Amino acid sequence: MKELSKKSLVPFDQEKYEAAAYKDPLLVACNYSFSLPEVKFDDLEELENQGKPVLLHKWMIPEIKKLFLAAVNFNANFQKACKISSGYRTIEQLEQLRKDRYFLKLLEMYLEKQEENDPVKMFQKSMKKMSEQERLIKYFGLRKSPELIELEKKYANDSEKFLAAVDPSIKEWLKQEALKKVDQSVPYAGRSDHHTGFAVDLPHTIVNVEFYQWLEENAYHYGFIRRYTEESREYTRVDPEIWHWRYVGQNHAEQIHKLGVTLDEYVIKKHYEDVL
Ligand SMILES: [Zn+2]
Repeated sequence: MKELSKKSLVPFDQEKYEAAAYKDPLLVACNYSFSLPEVKFDDLEELENQGKPVLLHKWMIPEIKKLFLAAVNFNANFQKACKISSGYRTIEQLEQLRKDRYFLKLLEMYLEKQEENDPVKMFQKSMKKMSEQERLIKYFGLRKSPELIELEKKYANDSEKFLAAVDPSIKEWLKQEALKKVDQSVPYAGRSDHHTGFAVDLPHTIVNVEFYQWLEENAYHYGFIRRYTEESREYTRVDPEIWHWRYVGQNHAEQIHKLGVTLDEYVIKKHYEDVL
């Protein structure tokens, strides 16, 4: 049974998150309103990861190896998907990520606005029905338009330079919209699940859809859950991410799966007391 949270009944109570992490450090989590405690550097370890080592909390390293092994045993083609594109991130890396994303969103919103002002383009867009494949490509943000690539090259991650060049009448709107989009995809530094060391991003490619389906059905046996879902958005403000997996240990993951709740609800409603 899916237990849905009711906005008025669930406060974004930092104390409840802290109480859960105190009971079991695997449950360390935050929502958009407060930061995580600093991770102890000694708790992090490097994992060899198809040629590009990643830093992760040492507790999850043997478990992610087991998860990947099970995935490949199930389907040998999953080998390419069993690669971590991002693990632990420092505050500085998260700040940089937000800056880079802001630049990209400025360009995207600018181009969208240009398109809105172009009746021919708007008509073409309305005539074109998106195929399932195109929808997935858009979802994963895989394909960049030639206009976007050109702007990226021209302004080379310099948001200020780009803003100085745009029409002043849309500048404020552009800044606000881009920032809103950044907030939906990258949490503030210190408030990201990646800062716990218990989170990984897997590759974002459409060939992995089948792999993600397998994970949805099996990852909890190995202690992994989805951190950012449709239901968790209310707490985290982050859009659903099918590639982002979070280690909470087998007992919690099984309970979370059984109850069909988010990590936030699990912590706030103290469901963990049933397994500790
Ligand atoms: Zn992530």
